[in-house]
Amino acid sequence: MARTIYFDNNATTQVAPEVTEAMLPFFTTYWGNPSSMHTFGGQVAKYVDKAREQVAALFNARPSEIIFTSCGTESDNTAIWTALQTNPAKKHIVTTSVEHPAILQTAAFWERNGYRVTRLGVDEKGRLDMDEYAAALTPDTAIVSIMYANNEVGNIYPIPQMAEMAKERGILFHTDAVQAAGKVDIDLEKVPVDMLSISGHKLHAPKGVGMLYVRKGLIFRPFIRGGHQEAGRRAGTENVPYIVGLGTACDLAKAHMDEENVRVAALRDRLEEGITSSVPDCLVNGDREHRLPGTTNIAFRNIEGEAVLLMLDRLGICASSGSACTSGSLEPSHVLSAMKVPFKYAHSSTRFSLCRYNTQEEVDYAIENIPGVIKTLRELSPFKD
Ligand code: PLP
Repeated sequence: MARTIYFDNNATTQVAPEVTEAMLPFFTTYWGNPSSMHTFGGQVAKYVDKAREQVAALFNARPSEIIFTSCGTESDNTAIWTALQTNPAKKHIVTTSVEHPAILQTAAFWERNGYRVTRLGVDEKGRLDMDEYAAALTPDTAIVSIMYANNEVGNIYPIPQMAEMAKERGILFHTDAVQAAGKVDIDLEKVPVDMLSISGHKLHAPKGVGMLYVRKGLIFRPFIRGGHQEAGRRAGTENVPYIVGLGTACDLAKAHMDEENVRVAALRDRLEEGITSSVPDCLVNGDREHRLPGTTNIAFRNIEGEAVLLMLDRLGICASSGSACTSGSLEPSHVLSAMKVPFKYAHSSTRFSLCRYNTQEEVDYAIENIPGVIKTLRELSPFKD
């Protein structure tokens, strides 16, 4: 098989072999329903409990604060739903213009249903303005939802400070930590968020499992109603194998995060430096000082992002233009538009997102080949200055 170099880890990640191994017995041997009264099913419940402890440990949370869901999108929808249901008199939502559609579309839905939504802007590096944020918080605000880290450019936002500001005003604070989980050290004893979302498939667990952290004492209304699973907070028979997988993935992240972050950031920096030093007229999008270790988003003046992706794909290099959800569209992504990246650059912005399984050899192969790809595309490009 031709080589595949996977630099699209913000779209999804490979399931870690340790995670697959931990999950397998729950397909073959322990396939019972954890809610069953008999021993066969009931014996499974303790593995769900163990996974809950493992997930809680990654965030220094209590197991009882962890609700398993089907994905990051469900967690995000649930957070906003419960905040609005438990604060019926408040009709205002604060979020940002650079969130994932899981939040942006949910906020837009509530806006169509009578809520006022403030979408905070960003500067040219994708950074938020704290004065604008402070001014947006009002007695009518039911919830603030701000992502911990951005999926397209990798910016890490000052969530501890922003959550504190919401807390001082008695406003609920949710963070979409789907991209940050396992990469940013998040201690929920210190960071006063009320709710936090994660998704399994971004941290080497499978697709189709997520988690919503809900701080102890918070009044909660379920988004999915039915049976008594998850202490009545999320109905539906537990996806035991995937929950076990998520627990194992969190365990691995906790054990190796520090050293992996250093190694992955070094690979990312080598890739970024290798490309930007040999390709004229390119720039790095985002806040290079506060960024996820594995993400770089590079814009090449005057060519089409789609063409870059196709040519890279022929070389076996998987990258992304904007986020996975926005590739396929020729418009610059909403994140790059919010950052007002000039069209000549935004159009060709290419995201490379690395993980623990990438190697220096892969990075060097990319550095050797990408300048030639860009040169060829520039010769063919209809865009000229
Ligand atoms: N939030 C962010 C920041 C994401 O990057 C994604 C996925 O790309 C999601 C939410 C949605 O997660 P899921 O695919 O598990 O629904």
